[in-house]
Amino acid sequence: MSTMGEGTRAVRAGLPEPQQYEPTLPGPVFAAHFHLSGEPTGPYTYGRDTNPTWTHLERAIGELEAPGEGVHTTVFASGMAAISAVLLSQVRSGDAVVLPDDGYQALPLLRAQLEAYGVEVRTAPTRGDAQLAVLEGAKLLWIETPSNPGLDVCDVRRLVEAAHAGGTLVAVDNTLATPLGQRPLELGADFSVASDTKGMTGHGDLLLGHVTCRDADLAAGVRRWRKVVGAIPGPMEAWLAHRSLATLELRIERQCANALALAEALRAHPDVTGLRYPGLATDASYPTAVEQMRRFGSVVSFVLADRETAERFLSALHLAEDATSFGGVRSTAERRARWGGDAVPEGFIRFSVGAENASDLVADVEQALAEATGGN
Ligand SMILES: *Cc1c(COP(=O)(O)O)cnc(C)c1O
Repeated sequence: MSTMGEGTRAVRAGLPEPQQYEPTLPGPVFAAHFHLSGEPTGPYTYGRDTNPTWTHLERAIGELEAPGEGVHTTVFASGMAAISAVLLSQVRSGDAVVLPDDGYQALPLLRAQLEAYGVEVRTAPTRGDAQLAVLEGAKLLWIETPSNPGLDVCDVRRLVEAAHAGGTLVAVDNTLATPLGQRPLELGADFSVASDTKGMTGHGDLLLGHVTCRDADLAAGVRRWRKVVGAIPGPMEAWLAHRSLATLELRIERQCANALALAEALRAHPDVTGLRYPGLATDASYPTAVEQMRRFGSVVSFVLADRETAERFLSALHLAEDATSFGGVRSTAERRARWGGDAVPEGFIRFSVGAENASDLVADVEQALAEATGGN
């Protein structure tokens, strides 16, 4: 499978061998327990430990994260469950951890939890590989690239090389890129982690997360953590996610092309400042992004004059709803400062580009900008 195109791999990922009279993708298995006589061995015993619907999905994600390799994937109830599983299963009291200071907005909550457990937490920005400066002696380095919502990019290979030289493990939050955008394990990371709530499943109808790693011991720690805290996905969510992966390449191709088209249209717009899209050749992230990414994601960010202009813009859009999250087939946009916590201006817009036709989307954004800024 490793030499096949990504669309081919996506439509077949994780499918079991064909069986007469069975569906191509077996339906969700709803079970708290499984028939089990005698010694409790075998793959399926109790529903908090294992479920055949997860097994299929975990194989599928593994085939996308590291084509042709036998990797270990563990699916979780959400992205935060996956992130917490890596950090809390790997670090001990007295260890040091390096986080980005511009990462996902729930990381500060996790930081407080780690500190309460006696872990030293250091932070530095994603841009300029600034985490290198605070790496010494750390147990684990957490990278988020492109960062959310700032869309800065760091050099994963360079950070991994420095981290491994000092015995530091590296985890990459790959939510924004998806494995079709970049493959952290191939860049040398120990863990590829994601919220599959976003582009990976792409329909805005479920929460899910995963952790993939090569090392069996690291994987066992993550899996044990899932069993301990019970942060397990429901079989229905796991099955919907697997079904959604079949269209991953179609969706990501269209959404990334649309994101670039929107970024190019906004570049020339007089009322837009602070435009960011890692796939735009003029973007500060581009030189590093192009070395490690194959597609640049579906999120474009920019700044309008002030809060009121941003709110007028959002309500004037017809094809993008005002909602958080990103990566879905229907465009959404939000004024990010409404949440607090992110270091962004009041007029900062995070635009998640969907799978509409680019010309419709660009026209809608242009009319909404005209409406918001008084029609110039
Ligand atoms: C959404 C998100 C998460 C958290 O995922 P949930 O599925 O909401 O728990 C983590 N990291 C990034 C980069 C995200 O965008």
